[in-house]
Amino acid sequence: MVELKLGNLKKKVPKDVSKVEEIIILGAGPAGLSAALYAARAELSPLVITGMELGGQASLTNTIENYPGFPDGVGGSQLGELFQKQAERFGAKFEFDVVTEVDFNEVPFKIKTFSKEFLAKSVIISTGASPNLLNVKGEKELTGKGVSYCGTCDGWFFKDKKIVVVGGGDSALEESLFLTRFASSVTIIHRRDQLRAGKILQTRAFNNPKISFIWDSIIKEIQGDQAVKKVQLENVKTGAHSILETDGVFVFIGHTPNTNLFKSFLDMDQNGFIITNQYVKTNIPGVFAAGEVMDSHFKQVVTSAGMGAAAAIEATKYLESGD
Ligand SMILES: Cc1cc2nc3c(=O)[nH]c(=O)nc-3n(C[C@H](O)[C@H](O)[C@H](O)COP(=O)(O)OP(=O)(O)OC[C@H]3O[C@@H](n4cnc5c(N)ncnc54)[C@H](O)[C@@H]3O)c2cc1C
Repeated sequence: MVELKLGNLKKKVPKDVSKVEEIIILGAGPAGLSAALYAARAELSPLVITGMELGGQASLTNTIENYPGFPDGVGGSQLGELFQKQAERFGAKFEFDVVTEVDFNEVPFKIKTFSKEFLAKSVIISTGASPNLLNVKGEKELTGKGVSYCGTCDGWFFKDKKIVVVGGGDSALEESLFLTRFASSVTIIHRRDQLRAGKILQTRAFNNPKISFIWDSIIKEIQGDQAVKKVQLENVKTGAHSILETDGVFVFIGHTPNTNLFKSFLDMDQNGFIITNQYVKTNIPGVFAAGEVMDSHFKQVVTSAGMGAAAAIEATKYLESGD
C-alpha cells in the first residue's frame, strides 16, 4: 500500500496504482478545455479525456460570433484548437479516448476508457450534451442519407437542394441561416406559432429570402429509400396531414446531457442534468461538473467555459484542503 494525500486527509491505496492523477477532466468542449487551462495554471497537470469531439459542440458550428475577444467571429473548431493549445502550454495532457465507466465510491476515483483505466483524486465532468432525435419513422434509416444534426458538417452536401429544418431555438435559426449558403431553400418547421430564438437571429431569418416557415407543425415521418425524398407533416392545431418534398432534414430540437455513466453516483434532475451547488460541486466531494452537462439554461460557449474555470478553481481548493 502507498499513502495518498488529499489536503489534510491521508488514505492508503494499493501499490500497483502506478499513478494517481491530481485531476481528470472528462470531456474537451469549452467547459473541459477551460477547466484544463485553469487546472494546468494551478500546476495540477490535468489529464483531459476528450471523447469523440475535441472542442465539443462548438466545433460543429462554422462561426462563433458571441465569444468575447473575437470581434470578427471565430471558427468553431478553431476556437477549440486555441483552447487546447492554451491549456497544453501550461501542462495539460490529453487522452483521445472515450470514458466507458466510472467508480466514484471511493478516492482515488476510477475512470475506465475503451483502452485504459485511470485513477484521480478529483474529477471534473464536462461531457456536455447530445442532440435530441425526432424519433419518427424513417429518421434512423435515413440518418447520413439526408437526415442530419449538424449543418456545418453536412451543409455542403445540399448545394442547390431544398431542405427542411426542425426547431425554433437559437441553434435552429443559426443553422438555418448557415444552410442558406448551400441550399436553394430552407423551410423551418416549428411546432409552435412563434420562435424561442433570440431577436437578432429571428430578424435575420425573417429577412432571408431563402427561409420560409411552416408553423404549428411536426414531422410524422421521413420518407425515402437511399436518400430523403419527402416528409409527412401534421398540423398540431388542425390535425391535418400534408406531404412536403425535400432533399434533407436537419434536426435542432435540443439536447440531452451525456450523464448516463454517472447515474448511480450523482444527483440529477428529471432530465438527467447533474445537480451542483453554486460552486459547481456535485453531491460527491471531489467530483465537480461544468457546462451543458449541468446547465440546461444558458448553453453557450462563454458560460460553459466560465463554469469550467470555476470547477477547476474549486477542484484546486479541494485538493489543497481535502474539504
Ligand atoms: C450547431 C451549434 C451551434 C452553436 N453555436 C454557438 C454559438 O454561436 N455561440 C455559443 O456561445 N454557443 C453555441 N453553441 C452552444 C455551445 O457549443 C455549447 O454551449 C458548448 O459547446 C457546451 O460546452 P460543454 O463543454 O459544456 O459541452 P460540449 O461542447 O457538448 O462538449 C462535451 C465534450 O464531452 C466529450 N464527451 C462526451 N461524452 C464523453 C465520454 N463518454 N467520454 C469522454 N468525453 C466525452 C465530447 O467529446 C466533448 O468533447 C452551439 C451549439 C451547436 C450544437
